[in-house]
Amino acid sequence: MPYHRSVSAARPLPKSLPERRLLRELERIVGASNVIWRPEDLLVYEYDATIDRGAPEAVVLPGTAEEVAAAVKLAATAGVPVVPRGAGTGLSGGAIAIAGGLVIGTSRLRRILELDPANLVAVVEPGVVNADLSQAAAPYGLRYIPDPSSQKACTIGGNVAENSGGPHCLAYGVTTNYVLGLEVCLASGELAWLGGRVPGLTGYDLAGAFVGSEGTLGIVTKAAVRLSRLPPAVRTILAAFPELDQASGTVSDIIAAGMVPAALEMLDRLTIQAVEPAVQAGYPPDAGAVLLIELEGLPEEVEAQTRTVQGLCRRREAREVWVAEDEAQRERLWAGRKGAIGALGRLAPNYYILDGVVPRTKLPEVLRRVGEIGARHGFAIANVFHAGDGNLHPNVLFDERVPGATEQVLRAGAEIMRLCVEAGGTLTGEHGIGVEKQDFMSWIFTAADLEAMQRLRRAFGAGELFNPGKLFPDARHCVEVGFRIPKVANLGTGDFM
Ligand SMILES: Cc1cc2nc3c(=O)[nH]c(=O)nc-3n(C[C@H](O)[C@H](O)[C@H](O)COP(=O)(O)OP(=O)(O)OC[C@H]3O[C@@H](n4cnc5c(N)ncnc54)[C@H](O)[C@@H]3O)c2cc1C
Repeated sequence: MPYHRSVSAARPLPKSLPERRLLRELERIVGASNVIWRPEDLLVYEYDATIDRGAPEAVVLPGTAEEVAAAVKLAATAGVPVVPRGAGTGLSGGAIAIAGGLVIGTSRLRRILELDPANLVAVVEPGVVNADLSQAAAPYGLRYIPDPSSQKACTIGGNVAENSGGPHCLAYGVTTNYVLGLEVCLASGELAWLGGRVPGLTGYDLAGAFVGSEGTLGIVTKAAVRLSRLPPAVRTILAAFPELDQASGTVSDIIAAGMVPAALEMLDRLTIQAVEPAVQAGYPPDAGAVLLIELEGLPEEVEAQTRTVQGLCRRREAREVWVAEDEAQRERLWAGRKGAIGALGRLAPNYYILDGVVPRTKLPEVLRRVGEIGARHGFAIANVFHAGDGNLHPNVLFDERVPGATEQVLRAGAEIMRLCVEAGGTLTGEHGIGVEKQDFMSWIFTAADLEAMQRLRRAFGAGELFNPGKLFPDARHCVEVGFRIPKVANLGTGDFM
């Protein structure tokens, strides 16, 4: 049975949309073929890439920012909640309509409006697929750096809302470092530009506040983003280790040696066993862990760093260390990493992917304890993650058809998140809070912190219109999924942020 998380009675959210008049008004704005309301058509909108489910009462697909604005105005007047949606690849339930209401999808807003190589700027609509932007920039020797592993599907609007990262964000920073300005639709239905299209900012960084707001402040209708030059030289190294600890130790050694590779990714034994038969990436199938290390820069510098990294890997008894010989081999190595989550389907019918951050030096200990938590709950856990950032992605493997399995997985997931926080880390590196981790927010934020965020939301005029019932804690969820997280004396003080 798919998992449905119910929403709090303390904040009743109306299941209110399908009044004929509203649907007719929406059809007048965007055309009848761009309003979806039949229950069977709505099914594909009831989920994202994680566990929770919730169907909207209607979906509208505007073709311009002005149509977004008109739909928002209509929904606001009728008191109907609005859920912005990109490609639905989110991993925290952000794009699902847990409170019903209207989904505003950006799948028709896919134009790259400007590509300005001289100023290293692109202006795009929010539904542009991440990888399409880099592809369009490549003939100019440019790329868009934030590269989530889902980049062939996820959208720039979704990336902005989640402040997404990716393998190449270790050295260069995440989405927020690449957003220059945003056109947004506010709850009033007004379109407003925040920031601009040149670096350097006067006054409050309102675009910065919008990045990572998970669709709770408004809808991004255009984004001006920074492009970067393609590096003159790239080397991709594969290092295979007998055990995970040796790979984790090497991650710290590389950073301690003064290098910040463009990417530093790790896959554990179980993940390799799923990936290799699926993708034939070239990972040794019996390795305990694999590191993918990418170095970029001037050719001489990259060659010197490659030698240093190879030496560090061997010092930790890597069984194999080699450099991709050509672009085709490099792409195969990356296909393994980027296809890893999908390949887990070979191991179990379902996976629950977690996203936590811990200090890099704590990786070996935390990964060991993640395995122990899985074993105690009776689940295998496969790890594939941005090791350089200490950004863990434990994937709990399970079968949702087994009665109670989903609830058990959520309990194991909560323990793993708690472990990350107790290790001095935090709740998300890139997937956001959504509905998945809202009840853990008080582990790292005080009531005053959370109220300050709510005040910001009100300052944007958003109230509960956009994405209600997400991001902020709602104590009833804990009870409904049947777990209670004990308070730890030194947590919940905001000290960790
Ligand atoms: C296999 C796989 C691998 C992944 N790897 C990574 C990774 O490496 N790094 C990473 O960061 N994430 C990763 N993700 C998660 C996900 O792809 C990202 O969070 C992505 O940014 C979501 O984009 P989307 O277009 O699918 O957004 P959706 O899932 O549709 O929405 C996500 C959130 O953004 C909001 N939103 C969407 N569009 C807008 C808009 N125009 N204005 C305002 N709010 C909006 C939604 O309301 C929701 O809260 C992965 C997911 C999968 C399935």
